[in-house]
Amino acid sequence: MSWTDMAVNGRILVVDDAMENIQILHGALQDEHEVLFAMDGPRALEIARTQQPDLILLDAVMPGMDGYAVCKELLAAPETSDIPVIFVTALKSPEDETRALGAGAADFISKPVNAAVVRARVRTQLTVKRQRDALRALILTDALTGVANRRHGEELLEKEIKRARRYRVPLALLSFDIDRFKVVNDTYGYPVGDVALRTVADTTRAVLRASDILVRSGGEEFHIIAPHTSAIDGLKMAEKVRVAIEQAEIPGCDHVTVSLGVAQLGEQESGDSLTQRTDAALARAKRAGRNCVELAMQ
Ligand code: GH3
Ligand code: MG
Ligand code: MG
Repeated sequence: MSWTDMAVNGRILVVDDAMENIQILHGALQDEHEVLFAMDGPRALEIARTQQPDLILLDAVMPGMDGYAVCKELLAAPETSDIPVIFVTALKSPEDETRALGAGAADFISKPVNAAVVRARVRTQLTVKRQRDALRALILTDALTGVANRRHGEELLEKEIKRARRYRVPLALLSFDIDRFKVVNDTYGYPVGDVALRTVADTTRAVLRASDILVRSGGEEFHIIAPHTSAIDGLKMAEKVRVAIEQAEIPGCDHVTVSLGVAQLGEQESGDSLTQRTDAALARAKRAGRNCVELAMQ
């Protein structure tokens, strides 16, 4: 399937202080898209945050908070900064257009609007967003296992650390590595090693909660970011992962085992420090004979 064949139906937020304008845009878009609407800036921001539209059609001139201010706030919040905005406005001068694009708008449509033009511009922006999202997923995902890659893992860890601090909840990081994996490759061949890696990732994912994040950090090493998880719960989780992998059937080769390290985030601790302590615990598990779990020291 090529990019141009991709379905471009989306969820569109229409923001305008005049009901008749909302009705016109709704009429133009409703056959192809889900249309949400807001009649002022603060409400638009709230809907953008909670409903995550794929695109926003934004009136530039509104009483109170105008379109430029809305656009600025959308860009400033990580939850909404990726949502493209098309300004829809009666203002026609090149300065107005430049101002809209300068505020971060993806495109600009003049009032009175033409339904066919609106539909075409919306389709284009949705396609661009789909392409961008697909590329982003490609950049952040490990191709072999489909889990987050190291780069994405580091980003997600920072995000989860911030969240844990904000809500004063514990956060655990687990680190694990396949035992004597070189022997697996040497004995069964690299392609079977790849199957083992995929099985390990799938098996691990199956025992994790939806909020836990599995990351392939390097060759045969993984991390698990576990929100709302204390050291004790992290140890239990690690043991569950260890047992599940030990029991997993791997097509074409013998069972594999993993060694794991667990650490709970300290009060002022950085992501790097947490990762180092977790990895040090994993190294101890290796020295202790492998196929076991070690808790990090504070
Ligand atoms: P230890 O128990 O100490 O971890 O021993 P090990 O053999 O697992 O560790 P070592 O670091 O010596 O070997 C890691 C092996 O993982 C070597 C490398 O070829 C293999 N490996 C890394 N990435 C991949 C991959 O994507 N596919 C396959 N099949 N093998 C990989
Ligand atoms: Mg208006
Ligand atoms: Mg290994």
